[in-house]
Amino acid sequence: MAVSSDFIKTSIEFLKGVGPSKAELLGKELGIFTFYDLLTHYPFRYVDKSKISKLSDITYDTEYIQLKGTLHSLKEQGFKGKGKRLTGKFQDESGTIELVWFQGAKWMKNVLTSGAEYLLYGKVNRYRGKLTIAHPEMEKWDASKTLKASFEPVYRSTEKLSKKGLDSKGIFKLVQNLFAQLQPVHIPEYLPLQILQKNGLAHRFQAFQFIHFAQDFQQIEQGQERIKFEEFFLPQLNMLKAKLQRQENTSGLVFSRIDDAFDRFFHDVLEFELTGAQKRVLREIRQDVVQGKQMNRLLQGDVGSGKTIVAVMTALMAIDNGFQAAIMAPTEILAQQHYNGIKPMLQKVGVRAELLTGSIKGQRRKDILKALRTGHLHVLIGTHALIEDPVEFENLGIAVIDEQHRFGVAQRAKLWNKASTDIPPHVLVMTATPIPRTLAMTVYGDLDVSVIDELPPGRKPVKTLHRTDAHRLRVHGFLKEEIAKGRQAYIVYPLIEESEHFELKDLMSGFEDVQRVFPYPEYRTSVVHGRMKPAEKDAEMQRFVKGETQVMVATTVIEVGVNVPNASVMVIENAERFGLAQLHQLRGRVGRGADQSYCVLMTKDELNTYAKKRIQTMVNSTDGFVIAEADLELRGPGDIEGTRQSGDLHFKMANLASDQAVLKKARYAAIQLLEQDPELELNENWPLRNFLQKSTALAGYWSRIS
Ligand code: ADP
Ligand code: MG
Repeated sequence: MAVSSDFIKTSIEFLKGVGPSKAELLGKELGIFTFYDLLTHYPFRYVDKSKISKLSDITYDTEYIQLKGTLHSLKEQGFKGKGKRLTGKFQDESGTIELVWFQGAKWMKNVLTSGAEYLLYGKVNRYRGKLTIAHPEMEKWDASKTLKASFEPVYRSTEKLSKKGLDSKGIFKLVQNLFAQLQPVHIPEYLPLQILQKNGLAHRFQAFQFIHFAQDFQQIEQGQERIKFEEFFLPQLNMLKAKLQRQENTSGLVFSRIDDAFDRFFHDVLEFELTGAQKRVLREIRQDVVQGKQMNRLLQGDVGSGKTIVAVMTALMAIDNGFQAAIMAPTEILAQQHYNGIKPMLQKVGVRAELLTGSIKGQRRKDILKALRTGHLHVLIGTHALIEDPVEFENLGIAVIDEQHRFGVAQRAKLWNKASTDIPPHVLVMTATPIPRTLAMTVYGDLDVSVIDELPPGRKPVKTLHRTDAHRLRVHGFLKEEIAKGRQAYIVYPLIEESEHFELKDLMSGFEDVQRVFPYPEYRTSVVHGRMKPAEKDAEMQRFVKGETQVMVATTVIEVGVNVPNASVMVIENAERFGLAQLHQLRGRVGRGADQSYCVLMTKDELNTYAKKRIQTMVNSTDGFVIAEADLELRGPGDIEGTRQSGDLHFKMANLASDQAVLKKARYAAIQLLEQDPELELNENWPLRNFLQKSTALAGYWSRIS
């Protein structure tokens, strides 16, 4: 049994058709290291050749198309010294499109017949407003041959892999080789039979078969539904279990005193009236920390809604009761900014705060660690790495985790190690990423949720404009006007996930353009990107914060938290490449001062319907929750990032937005299962229990029982 299920953990190198060099590339490019990784490298779409379209059906959204028509005007041309290329025209009853072959022109010319009727399949390209199809698949039209529904899986690949023959088709070949060896016993079922039957789910092995070798749409659906179900079910089960345990676990630190530091802060230090929402949230937190149970609360609040002050006052609740507090941010810059803002406030009430990040070393680090261990230091500010580090507290009472909606069960479990007694510290997770209510429960299954749904008074909403390359000159002119008024501006370039190198190239060439438009010494420009050393990044950022530079060119590293009230314009390049949530986060960097602020979304001229709607949503609304709802609606099944990853959830196939029906089923099944058999002790649930204990990603709570 153990032996057969280990089969799928075999290194991909040993699959027929792979070998060491391709194996290395598969790992590097696609994260495929084992048979199992290949098995779960799912097709992202299927080619359906059961339908013939017309040229007049083509829209901006059309990608692949099958056409029937006549080929003519075949021409071989010299091509900028790079050999020959072949062009032709393809005509159906509704129009004509150009075909082009860059490789094997001569050979293709001999194979193809001008004037003949063909069935064509290919990808529509748009180049300078002109439509072409490059290297289409061509098959002589045969009226006697009826079109059969046939599904060809299409797999994600990369340029490097394609060069080694591992394009989508090459990967499919590997999948075929894998299935030549794979047997049901290698993919044992672990879901209880009852759950499979109740939900009409395919057996695990069969699901994989359906997904890679679908004969019809129904099989695709059945296979996908099973995999999506388990992707939802397992983390749901884990989270619900965590919540149950937390509810049973009666011990939590009690912060019963509320006086001294908290009160003095409230009366003497706070420079503004708290908003109603801030007060409400503080009351909710206060109720949690006197109950004797561990608080696990998520605080959602739009950018600029004033979460920091809530964090500080929560820390003071701990301090008044003789405990320490940790405040953690996702980056060094943000930790530094928190430190700069928070330290002086706390000093006024006699509370000591220090910053601990990777760049604080030597004696200074030693001193801080010692003060922390001995209780002379009350508040430690740092990055999320504080949880991983061997940092020892005298008595940590609360951990505040800022701008982190991906702070999962497993990470939270690590906080237990920081406790000085058996009682874990309270946890407050803060995020500016608004999550629609329908999803909050799922993503944060084991957390209680508070919302700051009110901005401090007197904020002017950011004006958002959509402009294309054609307006670039005018956008530059506008930036110059704002700078002349003494304001500062951000210019943001997208982070391209597949290739860090590319990202940097984009940014640096953008930076050169910007320097040309805003020449030194009249203008001064900063640049910040993910490849810089933290110290360098910090220095650049500080120059902008201090107003020494007027333009900040950056990648999305400035996305969260950075606060420069004098920055009144943000230009976002290639805005169509960003997710809505991210655009909203970025836009939150402006509009922090008293002046009217602007966000200019730059895109190319031609946008597909989906991109157009997204940009329009940003232009029309500044409300994070409205945007989150729209985001959910607009995300198609084609979306790969975004909703597929949040909290403990890493979905390869399921999509939180479009698969809510499956999600509900999975959640319900998990609730029922835990009601019947909370420890998974019944015979029929043993395979599931074993599976959970073995799978490291989900180990957290299940490895502790037994
Ligand atoms: P975020 O929720 O994005 O973390 P911050 O905590 O950084 O927001 O707050 C944004 C700005 O609003 C800060 O300059 C802060 O001092 C200010 N602020 C917070 N609460 C209030 C309030 N109740 N009234 C006025 N200004 C406030
Ligand atoms: Mg903040």
